[in-house]
Amino acid sequence: MSVPNVKLNTGYGMPILGFGTWQSEKGVVGAAVKSALNVGYRHIDCAWVYGNEKEIGDALEETFKEGKIKREDLFLTSKLWNIFHDPEDVEDSLRETLKFLQTDYLDLYLMHWPFSFFKNDNRDILPKDGDDKVMNTYIHYLDTWKAMENCQKKGLVRSIGVSNFNEYQINKIIKGGSIVPAVHQIECHPYLNEETHIKYCKDNGIAVTAYAPLGSPKRPWGTAEEPVVLNDPVLKKIADKYGKTPAHVAIKFQMQRGVIVIPKSVTPARISSNFEVFDFELSNDDMDGIRGVNRNWRGLSFDWAAKSHKYWAYHPNYSED
Ligand code: NDP
Repeated sequence: MSVPNVKLNTGYGMPILGFGTWQSEKGVVGAAVKSALNVGYRHIDCAWVYGNEKEIGDALEETFKEGKIKREDLFLTSKLWNIFHDPEDVEDSLRETLKFLQTDYLDLYLMHWPFSFFKNDNRDILPKDGDDKVMNTYIHYLDTWKAMENCQKKGLVRSIGVSNFNEYQINKIIKGGSIVPAVHQIECHPYLNEETHIKYCKDNGIAVTAYAPLGSPKRPWGTAEEPVVLNDPVLKKIADKYGKTPAHVAIKFQMQRGVIVIPKSVTPARISSNFEVFDFELSNDDMDGIRGVNRNWRGLSFDWAAKSHKYWAYHPNYSED
């Protein structure tokens, strides 16, 4: 099964179903990626901050040596972490990711978040002061973006995009930059369906990737009171109708809206099961039913670390004016 592409504003195709790698531990992630490639995934979602790009690169290299899959068959995404927002650090950080992944270009490079943290020689991903508060810096994301544009112009990446931005911030980039983001990667699942924002992106030629499409059940800061997407009775009922699981329904919901989706798993049976979404179609009524469970619930706002930052995207009535 070859996964259909979404056409990006750069002209490149991006497989609509990809494979997430956040919290895929070292010692496990390489096997997970190989298992995903074996099943048919050709799009891998990585990030410098996940700390596992080296092992992913090794797994890719071993796979290429087997001869069945080539680099050009793959779509590789990575993300610039918040301590590397200084324009003078952007290319170096990207080059480190390229070295880890053992490739000379990325298909997509995203600014992971719009805000920056204190750059530090220890490469502490959440640098903190003596009061245990994350140390912010206020490099404007447009300046960081311009450095990413240079990376695209140099051919180190085919497309660039953003993640966890709001519309005010994307508008700033569209107006102030010379490249419109190709992709916005956002938290998106049936409990946060982001219909309005997806329309905004579409109107501006920006493709959307849904992260945490299953509701990220193992996010480290989750609490027992928070809703569990995969236990939703509406999803379960629709899934039963097709002999599928709520995970299949949550993944297919995104694909049928033209949204790219990147479920993560390190469990071989789930890796292969999550790919079994090409043999059924949700009806319009099913799609409406799934839309009906939306509750604008965000599980990954990163507020515990970043709410004090003025460029955190989720401040109500966000403005820099
Ligand atoms: P997901 O919604 O993909 O959920 C992953 C979790 O669900 C894992 O614990 C996995 O367990 C479990 N799981 C996978 N398949 C099934 C299934 N069929 N039934 C039941 N449980 C299942 O969450 P993520 O937060 O990982 O998001 C996906 C990807 O999006 C990330 O891996 C990352 O690549 C990206 N991302 C990007 C962010 C950003 O800021 N841009 C933020 C967060 C994620 P197990 O692995 O044990 O099988």
